[in-house]
Amino acid sequence: GASYRLDRWLSKQLSIPKKDARRLLAASQVTVNGAVETNADRIVNELSCIALKNQVLQQQQAHYVILHKPAGVVSATRDNEHTTVIDLIDAPFANTLHLAGRLDKNTTGLVLLSNDGRWTRQLTEPTSKLYKHYHVTLQNPIDSSYVDAFAKGMYFEYEGVSIKPAKLVIESTFTASLSIEEGRYHQIKRMFGRFRNPVVALHRYAVGDLHLPEDLAAGQWRELSESELALLM
Ligand code: URA
Repeated sequence: GASYRLDRWLSKQLSIPKKDARRLLAASQVTVNGAVETNADRIVNELSCIALKNQVLQQQQAHYVILHKPAGVVSATRDNEHTTVIDLIDAPFANTLHLAGRLDKNTTGLVLLSNDGRWTRQLTEPTSKLYKHYHVTLQNPIDSSYVDAFAKGMYFEYEGVSIKPAKLVIESTFTASLSIEEGRYHQIKRMFGRFRNPVVALHRYAVGDLHLPEDLAAGQWRELSESELALLM
């Protein structure tokens, strides 16, 4: 999209001379993305939220994105070495997005992103009651002792915290589904690490009641519908 100096943008938007626009800026009457801006050289574009005397002149459009993360892609906004989830999003607003929770590089599945910071924060807060649902493949056989241990919760010495009870459903000798409320660093790998059982593959298939759509192939993304968004409230 097009970028403008702030004085030029105000002059065009309000149909006033540029020097009047600069006067408004000098008088601290203009905010950009919620902060007072006095610099006429400030560059703004169609994603900037611009207000004059608390009247919003341009509101950044909110985008809520679901992405099917492939293996090998990192959950970061920028990385010099690896492809990031942002690199996969071919939209003009891609660089405005934040991640609502991260997956390890080799983990696949559902990732949520938005430029609505309140929404992404709310989803990742420790008090968020949304379960994250995973499909896990293990190197060694699993049995019901895992179910009991995960249901009790576990103490993570490194952080000095007890993780909340997690629900494990064994599907076969080497596979299970696991639902966790938190998202601590390498949490699932560390949970199975207690049993010296390496995680071979990890796939997040749902967050709360929002499931990864079957028609969203690895590497693909789209914006969430209103009804999908409502599932995360
Ligand atoms: N737990 C992990 O160990 N890795 C992930 O990517 C997500 C949860």
